[in-house]
Amino acid sequence: MGKDEGAMMGLMQCLPLTIGSVIDHAARNHGATEVVSRRVDGSFERSTWAQVAQRSRRLATALDALGTAPGDRIASLAWNRIPHLELYYGVPASGRVLHTLNPRLFEEQIRYVLADGGARVLFVDPDLLALAEGVLAIHDAPVTVVVLCAREDMPASTRDDLIAYEDLIAAADPLAAWPDLDERTASSLCYTSGTTGAPKGVLYSHRSTVLHAMSLMTADSMALSARDNALLLPPMFHVNSWGVPYGSAMCGAKLVLPGAQLDGASLHALLRDEAITFSLGVPTVWFSILDQIERTATAEERGALRLERVFMGGAATPRALVQRFRDLLGVETMQAWGMTETSPVVAVTRPMGRHHGQPWEEELDLRAKAGRCLFGCEVGVADADGNVTGPGADAVGALVVRGHWVTNGYFGKEPGSALDAQGWFDSGDIARIDADGFVQITDRSKDVIKSGGEWISSIDLENAAVAHPAVKEAAVIGVPHPRWQERPLLLLVLQPGEAVTREAMLAHLTEHVARWWLPDDIVTVDELPHTGSGKVIKSELRDQYRHHLDPAQ
Ligand code: AMP
Repeated sequence: MGKDEGAMMGLMQCLPLTIGSVIDHAARNHGATEVVSRRVDGSFERSTWAQVAQRSRRLATALDALGTAPGDRIASLAWNRIPHLELYYGVPASGRVLHTLNPRLFEEQIRYVLADGGARVLFVDPDLLALAEGVLAIHDAPVTVVVLCAREDMPASTRDDLIAYEDLIAAADPLAAWPDLDERTASSLCYTSGTTGAPKGVLYSHRSTVLHAMSLMTADSMALSARDNALLLPPMFHVNSWGVPYGSAMCGAKLVLPGAQLDGASLHALLRDEAITFSLGVPTVWFSILDQIERTATAEERGALRLERVFMGGAATPRALVQRFRDLLGVETMQAWGMTETSPVVAVTRPMGRHHGQPWEEELDLRAKAGRCLFGCEVGVADADGNVTGPGADAVGALVVRGHWVTNGYFGKEPGSALDAQGWFDSGDIARIDADGFVQITDRSKDVIKSGGEWISSIDLENAAVAHPAVKEAAVIGVPHPRWQERPLLLLVLQPGEAVTREAMLAHLTEHVARWWLPDDIVTVDELPHTGSGKVIKSELRDQYRHHLDPAQ
């Protein structure tokens, strides 16, 4: 912060930007507004912002009773459900740090992330208990496990010390008042996907979380408001569900959480039955919803949907998807750019005043861009020497970012260690920024494979493949896929005289990686293209196999 000794200070109140103040505001001003979620068995649980506030205060007291202290990490392994939302408030507002674990990872990966975060209490959804037990069986430290259900719904377990969440909440009095916290206090911990080495923890603060959520409500971002019924598709273990659990409480939107059922039919039913006006998620999830609507809904039923806006990010939004939303439902799509390290929303694509009346083809081009930077952040393009230029320079280079909700250093590392001397964080994406400030991602510097909203590490898969004795060299690339955006393709060079069947290789890989990481196809080649320094030239392979899984590409 710049300081000028001679400047006069303003005479305005200065209150810390805390998560406790967000849920208090929701309880006071739109306490009766609904929060809805789906249990694992498909039944619905209905609550209100006032009840979420009340129960998160009970949770805070219960966390004291469990012997946890301010600053302690509290882990969650759960879907988008109301109890998870209560953790989103009760844990940070009481001074602890919510560490969200991704249940789609392999047991060993979850164990690594849990151990790195250091939580000693884990809240787990009932259908994920078996996974949690598998993780804890290979974890060194003792962990108290709370299952997010009532005692009568507790799943069978080998442990006899499990706590039922509803017992815990019922036994605790609501905390009278949230503790006074410095707004820079850590609030939640979320790990990157670890494609270039071990996953890294991003430690959000109350201040960064509140400022980010406030910006989501602005008209050029999500324009989230009290008129919205919002369907939350980004998992609550991915970058705080893009901040919407906090933004909805601020403005008084009705929040609908889909639980574990993310198939087209279930989501279409939620759009219809909960009168959803706004939703968000990675592009992939929308393909199955639109397929479902196209197949099953009459024009009248489509017209009855109240959906107005859809916000997409995490991967480039295909033009075809923008077009389809418009043709099928008359819905506006917004594209956003961001990443775990940036909370995530930094840039959003919505037309400006001067685009009014432009032909649809041009608007489609515009909406295919990654977005304009929101106030609170700054983006630039860095050349190979680290010189940064802003919008309009027409340079292509590393997309760098700095701002109120951008990390300065990973969990366990020195503060500031993720930044260059000017305070820029290198996103790892390659981009151009036009004169209006629209960011266009031209490439990604990592070779990660994006399958749906999830990332698959090519390095991990390659390492697993070369562990097979018949394999001399392996390369894994992401290949365009009509449904999942990208799926892995494994290219193998075999040892002389060796052979391995596709089934045998898949069986081998299954021992090392999660099932959904398994390559969609395996191709044996005589040799792979290499750079002078011996690295496989993946860009060449990607070009060569572009049509392998989707001939339309
Ligand atoms: P994550 O940290 O998992 O949220 O992934 C962040 C990465 O997703 C970014 O570094 C980009 O590579 C990619 N990404 C996010 N939004 C977009 C977008 N609108 N267009 C293209 N790539 C995107």
